[in-house]
Amino acid sequence: MQIMHSAKERLRRAIRDIQDFPRAGVVFKDITPIIEDGQLFRLAVTVFGDLYKRKSIEQIVAIDARGFLFGSALAYVLGTGISVVRKKGKLPYKTIAASYDLEYGTNTVEMHTDSIIPGQRVLIIDDVLATGGTATAAVTLVRQLGGQVVEAAFLMELSFLHGREKLAPVPCYSIINYQTP
Ligand code: AMP
Repeated sequence: MQIMHSAKERLRRAIRDIQDFPRAGVVFKDITPIIEDGQLFRLAVTVFGDLYKRKSIEQIVAIDARGFLFGSALAYVLGTGISVVRKKGKLPYKTIAASYDLEYGTNTVEMHTDSIIPGQRVLIIDDVLATGGTATAAVTLVRQLGGQVVEAAFLMELSFLHGREKLAPVPCYSIINYQTP
């Protein structure tokens, strides 16, 4: 428990706040100091791995683009494959799409139609859970392809944006929680 606490603290201390990026009023949580440091990157993946090796995960679904970093390392640890949720227009084969509202306008994400085996037990992963719009769209796509979403995992959660409630009843796990902006 103590080890877990200090692991979280080390990761939290490495995350860099960038004010007003990508636009005024947003505090961007920059995870590059974690992935650039071999020990910290391994620590983050180990925390996820220790949790999910007991949950019979059969496939990782990772969200464009920073979800790919943690998702692929975790898939390697768990011995699963990795399916990708990409921004519209990036995937070459047949796709299904889901759109969600942003503060201004909408966003669309896509998956390949054959990227999930029906019945597969899926873990969705991304770096940040903010409003939950992106992860909810990922849940919609996985279910449309017949997958079973076991849980959604994030390096960090901005809990003041209530993404967890939007994702419910899909269980959420985050290593680090920010309760205020
Ligand atoms: P949302 O759909 O609002 O939950 O936003 C989640 C997606 O946007 C994730 O793919 C994140 O990488 C990115 N994101 C949202 N807010 C932030 C933030 N404050 N810092 C870094 N990334 C963010």
